[in-house]
Amino acid sequence: MTRFPPALIRMAGLLSADSVGGGASHVDRGKSTQNADPDRARVLKAFRGLKLVAFDCDGVIWIDEKALPGAVELIAWLKEQSISTAAITNNSSRSRSNLSSKAERLDLPLTGSEFYATNYLAAKVVEERFPGEKILVLGSDDFFQIIGNAGVTAIRTTKDISDLRNTDLEELKYAALIAGFSGSICYAELCHAVTALENGAVFIATNPDYTFPVGERFLWPGNGSFVDLVSRVSGVRPEILGKPAPHLLNAAMEDFGASPAETLMIGDRLDTDIACGKNAGAYTCLVNTGVAAAGGNDSTSGIAPDFTTPNLTELLNLFKSIFEEESERKSDG
Ligand SMILES: [Mg+2]
Repeated sequence: MTRFPPALIRMAGLLSADSVGGGASHVDRGKSTQNADPDRARVLKAFRGLKLVAFDCDGVIWIDEKALPGAVELIAWLKEQSISTAAITNNSSRSRSNLSSKAERLDLPLTGSEFYATNYLAAKVVEERFPGEKILVLGSDDFFQIIGNAGVTAIRTTKDISDLRNTDLEELKYAALIAGFSGSICYAELCHAVTALENGAVFIATNPDYTFPVGERFLWPGNGSFVDLVSRVSGVRPEILGKPAPHLLNAAMEDFGASPAETLMIGDRLDTDIACGKNAGAYTCLVNTGVAAAGGNDSTSGIAPDFTTPNLTELLNLFKSIFEEESERKSDG
């Protein structure tokens, strides 16, 4: 299980930018040591110029139908300070309107246009690369509808295994297979997907998350587990749209006019959230809730955040104290 210092916030043990495939070159890593005392000057430097704070969703701002402690207050406070907020999720199952309805139910002050889900990116990709072509879709009803509205012919598996066996191979040709998470995936869908890939379809996956937290006790199979299965059987490797690739965070930074040095990515997973922030060149903060609290992070992965915090309430307290200190400094000066 990954353990973090109990202090309000501490600099994590930092690695070289090269070891994590990019990273925030603007972060002064030279002075940092593992388990160093909190270095307020460096935290101040990172937080002073923030224009955008991007949150992962599951395990960070909510778990299931419950907002996590501090999420509502932190997002509201950032908005009061005119710092933009975005929610970046590898989840492909819910549309922007579905996500904003959930935010409303949980009193989270986030609107639809602040959500960057992999289905949003997937629709853009198929629209640009496969206009008018036949695409096989694995995923939720929302996902299927979003892809179907992106100017392609979206197909999903309706055949059972015996029907599939008797189908002409020509009928099973697709320009691409696009794989998002489905909570009701079945064997026939997996067989159909493998056949599509063996038949030459380009393989695109929304996200590589092997697991996701369910409630506070379970880690259940995520999209990455199905994507890996289909990839191993077919021998075709997928292009991954979601985190750890920086595309979702890049889209948010572009929309909100924030540079990487003005952006903080907060997440509960090292291999997706923190790696994504680093790949985009932004500051990164690991929050010890969700997957991190459930011990789902591989502490030997070589991926280290710039900061860690026990929860969003503590992070808000830190933000407030730094901003108060800064405003006192300005008024004294
Ligand atoms: Mg998460």
